[in-house]
Amino acid sequence: MELDLAVDAAAERMEERLGLLKRTSEHKAWLQRTLFSASAETAANHLRRWMKATGMEVHYDALTNVYGLAQTSPDGPDAPRIHIGSHYDTVINAGAYDGTLGVLLGIAVVEVIREARLPLRHNLSALAFCDEEGVRFQTTFLGSAYLCGRFDQSWLDKPDEFGKTLGEWLVDRAESIDAVLQNEPYIRPSDCFLEAHIEQGPVLEAADKALGVFTEIAAQTRAEVEVIGRAGHAGTTPGSLRCDPLPVACRMVQAIDALCQSEEAVRATVGRLEVSPNASNVIPGKVRFTIDLRYPDAAGLRARRDRLQTELQRIADGSKVEYRYREAHWADDAILSPAITDALAEACECVQGEALRICSGAGHDSMMVARVCPTSMLAVRCREGLSHHPDEFVSEADCRLALKALVDAVIRLDRGA
Ligand SMILES: [Zn+2]
Repeated sequence: MELDLAVDAAAERMEERLGLLKRTSEHKAWLQRTLFSASAETAANHLRRWMKATGMEVHYDALTNVYGLAQTSPDGPDAPRIHIGSHYDTVINAGAYDGTLGVLLGIAVVEVIREARLPLRHNLSALAFCDEEGVRFQTTFLGSAYLCGRFDQSWLDKPDEFGKTLGEWLVDRAESIDAVLQNEPYIRPSDCFLEAHIEQGPVLEAADKALGVFTEIAAQTRAEVEVIGRAGHAGTTPGSLRCDPLPVACRMVQAIDALCQSEEAVRATVGRLEVSPNASNVIPGKVRFTIDLRYPDAAGLRARRDRLQTELQRIADGSKVEYRYREAHWADDAILSPAITDALAEACECVQGEALRICSGAGHDSMMVARVCPTSMLAVRCREGLSHHPDEFVSEADCRLALKALVDAVIRLDRGA
C-alpha cells in the first residue's frame, strides 16, 4: 500500500479507537481509568487485540503494561528497538487524549510501516504503560520504571486510598513478587523511545502549529502535608482555646501560591485539600493537603522546595498545631536526546513546514525512559491547552499529522542510526 493511503487508513482506525477508549471508564459520568481497575483491564484487552492484529508479539506483564514487538528487522528479535508509545491510565475526570493518543499512535505507526511494507533495520515496539498518573498509589511512572528495569522495591509497600498496598494487589492478582523484582528490562540502552503526547499547554495553539518537540521535561516533586489540631464544638469553644488546623493550612496554601506567583518558571499547586471531620458545626481536627512543585531543573527545584519547607515550618511554629511534611515523589528534570529531538523536529518540518521546540512542564514517562535509552517527545496541539479535563480535544487532522510525523521520524532514525 502507498504510504499516504496507509497513514489515512491507520488515522481513521485511530479515531475510532480513541472513541472506544474514551468510553472505557470506571465511571459512566466521566473518564477515569486507574491502575488495576476493571476499566484498565478492558482497555488493555483492546490494546492487545489491536497489537495482535498487526502481527506483533504481544505482552501483558505483572504490572499490566501492554507492549508489542514487531519484528521488522532482518536481524531477529534482539535487534535494537524503536519504541513508540505512552500511558493508558488516566486521572479522575480525564480527557480522552492524555497518554491514550500516544499509545494509539504507537500502534498506528506499526500498522503504517507494515502496510506500506517499509523495510527497517530496527524492530518496532508499541508501548502502553499501565500507570503514569499515579492516581492509585500517589506515585508516578510505575509502568515505565518497570519496563526500564528501574522498579523500586519500596513501592511494594505503597498503599492505595483503601490501605491496600501495591504488593498486596500483585499477590491478589496471582503475581510472584520475586518474579516482579527479577524482571528483565524490556527497554534497553541500545533502543530508543519516541513518545507522542498532547502538549497540555497553550503554546502550540498560540503559534498556530499542530506539532512541536519537547527538548526537556521539568523536574517535579509531590508532597503530602498533615496539619493536626484538635476538633471541638463550633459553638462552645472560644478562639483563644481552639487548636484549629484549617486557618494554619490556609496560611500555608497562601505561601505556596506566593511562591508560584513569585517567578514565571516555578509551578506550585495545592490540588487536594481534605478537612476532617468536614462538618459545618465542628472545628476541624485535621487538614491534609498535597503540594505539586515543578521547576525546569532539579537544583533549582531543590532550592525552592527547601525555601518553601522553611516557610511552612515557620507558619506551623507560630501556631499550636502539629505539622508533618512528607515527600511522596521526586523526579529530576530530563534532558531529551538531541539526536532523537532533531529527527522529530525534521519530521515536523517535513509535515508542517516548521518545528517548535518547547520545555514540558508536565511530567511524562519519557523522564524515566530517558535514563535508559535515547528518548524524545512529539508534542501535539490540544484545544485551548486544556488537559486533565473532560473537554480535552485534539482534532482528527492533528492526530493524522502526528502519525505522519512519527512515521517520518522512525524512518529517519532507522536510516541514521
Ligand atoms: Zn500523560
